[in-house]
Amino acid sequence: LLYAGIDTFGDRGKAFDEMEQRVEEGATSFKFYPGNGLFDKISNDFVTLFYDDPENAYPYFEKCIDLGIKTVAIHKSQPMGGLPMSKVSIADVSLAASRYPELNFELVHTGWAFVEEAAYQLAGFPNIYANLENCVAWAVRQPLQFAHMLGKFLAIAPAERLIFASGCALNHPDPQIQAFLDFQMPEDLQEGYGYPPLTLDLKRKILGENYAQLHRLDIPAIKASIRNDRWSQLRAQGKAKPWSKRRERFPDQEAVQPVLESELA
Ligand SMILES: [Zn+2]
Repeated sequence: LLYAGIDTFGDRGKAFDEMEQRVEEGATSFKFYPGNGLFDKISNDFVTLFYDDPENAYPYFEKCIDLGIKTVAIHKSQPMGGLPMSKVSIADVSLAASRYPELNFELVHTGWAFVEEAAYQLAGFPNIYANLENCVAWAVRQPLQFAHMLGKFLAIAPAERLIFASGCALNHPDPQIQAFLDFQMPEDLQEGYGYPPLTLDLKRKILGENYAQLHRLDIPAIKASIRNDRWSQLRAQGKAKPWSKRRERFPDQEAVQPVLESELA
């Protein structure tokens, strides 16, 4: 599934043309970004967009609906560059979700901030989903932080609308998936905070079944279709260590950067 980025800050006609083109190329969803990194001296504010803005946001949602799009993803909760946190707050999405019940709204990176607010929005609006991109990585290095984030969602929101995402442009997926599978909700947090246990059933839902449900994907059919593809064959030979190609090439580099396909050639 392809989520195409969309520029809501430039010429609208051009953006609509690009949306049409992306759908022709196979885009199934669009990702919205609340800022474009610019500061407007005249209005003394950052150039940003709230998604309950009928004039500046709703036309894009209507264009999505016209194009047959069922799900949009909105970058939230994680500040982009120097953007104030108020600009990545999430309350605006509930209005848009009410206005457009035919669209599903993924709050992406939610869990980074505004955790309880997001959990209550999920509880209140059936077409809002929590996409946990860049939050599941906490399970690897900061498991208590992860426990509180996920525990709040599980205690308040329907578990059917929590979606795993790795943020694989920055984080290697494998350790995250493993840490998530191994993770148990600490008992003192279950007792002291009312967080439910993270059962295997919940792990399956969050790792894939919820997302499959959202996009009407048939998991057995997909499994059958990839059973002997190139990636399954490679996987059968055993997995390399995360970032191993990169580490071989840059042995002195501590911070692991995304690997470009061209660098692996
Ligand atoms: Zn994002």
